[in-house]
Amino acid sequence: MRYQRPKGTADILPGESEKWQYIEETARMLFSDYRYREIRTPMFENFDVFSRTSGETSDIVTKEMYDFYDKGDRHVTLRPEGTAGVVRSFVENKLYGPDTQKPVKVFYMGPMFRYERPQSGRLREFHQIGVEAFGSEAPELDVEVIAMAMDLLQHYGINDLRLAINTLGDQETRDNYRKALIDYLTPHFDSLSEDSQERLNKNPLRVLDSKDPADQVFVDNAPSILDYLSDNAKKHFDKVTTLLNELGIEYKIDHTIVRGLDYYNHTIFEIMANSKSLGEGYTTICAGGRYDGLVNELGGPEMPGVGFGLGVERLLLLMEAEKVEFPEFNPLDAYVVGIGEKANLESLKIVQSLRMNGFSADRDYLNRKPKAQFKTANKMNANYTLTIGDQEIEDGTIHVKNMENSKEETFKLEEVKQNFGKLIEENF
Ligand code: ATP
Ligand code: MG
Repeated sequence: MRYQRPKGTADILPGESEKWQYIEETARMLFSDYRYREIRTPMFENFDVFSRTSGETSDIVTKEMYDFYDKGDRHVTLRPEGTAGVVRSFVENKLYGPDTQKPVKVFYMGPMFRYERPQSGRLREFHQIGVEAFGSEAPELDVEVIAMAMDLLQHYGINDLRLAINTLGDQETRDNYRKALIDYLTPHFDSLSEDSQERLNKNPLRVLDSKDPADQVFVDNAPSILDYLSDNAKKHFDKVTTLLNELGIEYKIDHTIVRGLDYYNHTIFEIMANSKSLGEGYTTICAGGRYDGLVNELGGPEMPGVGFGLGVERLLLLMEAEKVEFPEFNPLDAYVVGIGEKANLESLKIVQSLRMNGFSADRDYLNRKPKAQFKTANKMNANYTLTIGDQEIEDGTIHVKNMENSKEETFKLEEVKQNFGKLIEENF
């Protein structure tokens, strides 16, 4: 029997995992500058947490959920996205209480699960880095979240991005727009895709999110929600665009963006990249928006929120396509070559001392001949090769070679163990 990983999953191997660490660490550092703190919620939740919030007609709920009944007959699901679980936790742990500083700003990173047709940049287990900020309706906060997403992507060395924004307005806006959309789409009912026919009356906004080519022409010519904004919604959106202008953040208003999840209102946005690595045309790698009803929907008080989610696999594809240079990871400071039986024990002591003093060090464990050990040191790109044999052990010395400039020197063994840093600084 040969085992294979489940379809749509990936093994992140050494060599690749360092890139992930770099991406995650960069995000952690940036989030800390913006004062977002980490939250870790379970990888699975009660099914209702998502079905109630993502929307009964959303792709996520209708097709993509990894849900099952556990041994206690509870209907649970692997999380398809981050926000609903964070909101569930926010409510359950009463993070909205009067003692907490508003807005409450959190970030998360981890795996998400969707039953999709796997392809480049589309997996069944994928990873998101996301943020949520609760407790302020201010458009300034929408803009902070957008600016932070752009800032993060720039830190990753990606500059050729398109920021598209739209507004879904408030309830009044949506009611009016819903009517207009139904009036517009109904005469074309027979030409719509099956999914869109299904959704037309339940949730016509979903039709705008359709990826089916059959629907595209209707999406392109659909009435614009921007013509149906209530005064309040218009005011909020105008403020957001003004602030983006003030910060010098370029954007395009795209009234066809609706997002795949039902919980959004007011500002929504997508950050897209045009790279062949992600398919033809522009592909969204980061998306988010405001969700002022969500906390209440999950049993909390009326409390606004805004956030984004960034797809890490798509980000990586993009970084690789853009030939972004990842910083060099954990270079090897010292490789110890041991010659002879006695050196076997001594080299173990040496690597251990070096490591305890904060250096990265390695040695041979396969009883290889000196020549093979030197080869390994080269292959591992060691900065220094340390050689010890019977004679050195007798003399209490060790031979050190700087692999970059080939300078060599013999030192006292104890000195190397205790003061390696100082020795190389003074002698090479
Ligand atoms: P799409 O329209 O491509 O299906 P979506 O609207 O379902 O995306 P969101 O739910 O907004 O995506 O998720 C935010 C980000 O997470 C996406 O922009 C993308 O980068 C990433 N993402 C979503 N689904 C997947 C997946 N199946 N595999 C890899 N990344 C994904
Ligand atoms: Mg999707």
